Amino acid sequence: MFTPADDRYDTMTYRRCGRSGLDLPAIALGLWQNFGETTPYERQREIVLRAVDLGITHIDLANNYGPPPGAAERNFGRMLAEDLRDLRDELVVSTKAGYLQWPGPYGDGGSRKYLLASLDQSLDRLGLDYVDIFYSHRFDPTTPLRETLGALKTAVDSRRALYAGISSYSAERTQEALAVAQEIGLEVLVHQPSYSLLNRWVEEGDPNVLDVLGESGTGAVVFSPLAQGMLTDKYLDGVPQDSRAAQGGPLKEEFLAPETLERVRALNQIAAGRGQSLAQMAIAWVLRDPRVTTALVGASSVRQLEDSVAALDKLAFTDAELDAIEEHSVNAGINIWAPRSSD
Ligand code: NAP
Repeated sequence: MFTPADDRYDTMTYRRCGRSGLDLPAIALGLWQNFGETTPYERQREIVLRAVDLGITHIDLANNYGPPPGAAERNFGRMLAEDLRDLRDELVVSTKAGYLQWPGPYGDGGSRKYLLASLDQSLDRLGLDYVDIFYSHRFDPTTPLRETLGALKTAVDSRRALYAGISSYSAERTQEALAVAQEIGLEVLVHQPSYSLLNRWVEEGDPNVLDVLGESGTGAVVFSPLAQGMLTDKYLDGVPQDSRAAQGGPLKEEFLAPETLERVRALNQIAAGRGQSLAQMAIAWVLRDPRVTTALVGASSVRQLEDSVAALDKLAFTDAELDAIEEHSVNAGINIWAPRSSD
């Protein structure tokens, strides 16, 4: 059994999730990539245990994280059983359902049939009686919101989840979901949208996603704040062999267009002027908005995780820095989740 560092709560910053009673770490770890069967278990374990030692109390999963789908929950379940059993009440574990998970009409989307069966499968893989947060992973235009939100309410009422969340819903769909939730007596704790210096969709529209969340008191856990690694020094001199972009996964090589890399270089210069790595500045930048509770990062090594968490050493920006960043921070066509936010 693992013995956590005594000082694990001394350096992490915790932020209140919307108008709930739940504090979340300003930086959380997600197990989307690098925690399946193609990554050595010992490396995964080192990253997760280091996260715990750094005060990261929130670990984010989904039914389909792998490869293959389900493997990340199984691997994290093993860590929970072998290393983290005594720390269960110090951790916030989240999972989701919404994307294709098994064949046939009941393994995808937002139906009650799919969400509750998937949650039971997730609990089984994780070896848990409950998760802390259960998310509708995406908006499903073919299912009434009342059914999807009703399934989340059943999850909470039956204590298979302590809180409910939605992910990637557009501003309009978020408003609708929150209205339905209110009607049926469900609190939606949190929304999980993508957000980064190269993907600013949550700021677009009137009201935009962040406005809706701020006004309703819903928290925001923003994912891919490093644009899957593009907002680091990783791709400045080509595509390294051991990178996500080289593996033919969700970071498409075409995302690394010359004009985007020019912007990344300019942002890297600004970060250097602040005495930070670009990853650190990118994380601090999403956290500059008080409506954002948490920057949800991924990592393929302990070193990356440590580098990212050190963003907390310098969160403040001067107006001049924000102005300089603004010139280079534009949507780079990398929001692969946009088609699943609305209909
Ligand atoms: P990210 O933090 O933007 O990207 C993580 C990747 O960036 C790492 O795998 C690594 O790439 C690189 N990296 C991380 N820290 C670095 C550092 N300090 N220096 C240099 N490179 C660094 O986030 P993400 O992994 O795309 O997503 C994070 C989490 O968000 C996921 O695990 C998941 O929990 C959640 N998420 C949710 C949804 C949803 O639909 N709700 C969708 C996507 C993600 P290499 O692996 O190439 O080394």
